[in-house]
Amino acid sequence: MKSSINVAVIGGGIIGASTAFHLSQMGARVTVFEKEQPASGASGHSFAWINSFNKFPRSYHELNHDSVERWPRFERLLNQDIGLKWGGNVTVATDATSGNMLAQDVKRLQIWGYPSKLITKKELLRLEPSLKIHKISSAAYTWSEGHVITDKVIRACMSSILSNSGKVLLQTRVDSISQDVSGASVVVGRKIYKFDMVVVAAGVNTSQFSESCGINLPQRVSPGVVIKTNPLPQILKSLSVLQIVNSEGQINQIHFRQSTDGVVMIGTGSQEHETTDDSLEHAEKLINETSRYIPELQNVRPIRVPVGYRPMPMDELPVIGSTPKTPNIYFLLMHSGVTLAPIVGELASMEIVGNLKVECLSAFRPSRFGQKN
Ligand SMILES: Cc1cc2nc3c(=O)[nH]c(=O)nc-3n(C[C@H](O)[C@H](O)[C@H](O)COP(=O)(O)OP(=O)(O)OC[C@H]3O[C@@H](n4cnc5c(N)ncnc54)[C@H](O)[C@@H]3O)c2cc1C
Repeated sequence: MKSSINVAVIGGGIIGASTAFHLSQMGARVTVFEKEQPASGASGHSFAWINSFNKFPRSYHELNHDSVERWPRFERLLNQDIGLKWGGNVTVATDATSGNMLAQDVKRLQIWGYPSKLITKKELLRLEPSLKIHKISSAAYTWSEGHVITDKVIRACMSSILSNSGKVLLQTRVDSISQDVSGASVVVGRKIYKFDMVVVAAGVNTSQFSESCGINLPQRVSPGVVIKTNPLPQILKSLSVLQIVNSEGQINQIHFRQSTDGVVMIGTGSQEHETTDDSLEHAEKLINETSRYIPELQNVRPIRVPVGYRPMPMDELPVIGSTPKTPNIYFLLMHSGVTLAPIVGELASMEIVGNLKVECLSAFRPSRFGQKN
């Protein structure tokens, strides 16, 4: 599929970057507009766990599962170090209530054909011998999951776009967009740029752009905090992610990963957990709590990371596509954007370049938010 279509992509997060990358691979002439730097939005605050562990309904689970499987190909196409680490996730429940719920989750995932099983404490310690978890109610192993360094992914996309003669305009805020019969325009200050198609992947700002075109894409404010450390020697020997659910503990749930550059990232609750507490005290408490299970973290100083805001459609499902009212404007707004970047980038580009509709995206169209769309 090769095309000389001229496309603007607003947003240098992982969704804009992947879409611009795939468009340029398909021969489109691409210009990326980013108001700050690559990864300065949600992508730079993400835990970046590639998974379909807890995704509903089934169509959304399948989209995530399919995207997990596309990551190795995406990495090969980018042909750069993107900090991709596989090894899977283990979620450990230390109390009976959470343990029963986890066992139900595994049963459902197995019925849905997702690589998952319950493992014993002995099996967990074979995977991670240095863990100090005394009480295990149940442990779920989802071995096909991994994580990336989003900043590296985005920069790899950008460098490929540039070598395909595309343009990346950083520190270039788009003020407005509009469309006419022959295409769509992007306004930056006094400059008006004309394109065949404009892709809006502006994260939490996407709804402002859609609103200006008469399209309603409602979002919920969803703040989150993932704390970091300086690079540390390797802690986990096999797994890419470890989650501990302890409804009796000081912090109910912890998710932990160590990037390929040695940086440790920890968050409370699940990936959807909402908090605005980005204080150093909270970060220290989180390290302290995690060090009960991972002794290597004792006396490690955290780095304070400011709150990140997830692009979060009101129904929590991705928004992918143009509308009958705006055929030359294509909207991309979603949570789980790191997991979804390969599939969304590729399928959105196919729709734009091929002027077609991909069936598996039908549940995620902007039209679900009302007749106005
Ligand atoms: C705390 C936290 C944890 C998360 N954990 C996970 C996880 O484990 N796994 C997972 O898959 N997902 C996770 N996510 C979600 C994931 O990070 C996001 O879904 C994804 O980063 C969204 O990417 P995006 O490109 O759509 O948006 P963004 O990364 O926000 O990018 C949008 C870009 O648009 C730019 N922009 C905005 N307005 C304009 C304008 N007017 N002109 C030009 N540029 C503009 C912004 O500067 C920004 O760079 C997490 C998110 C957070 C915050």
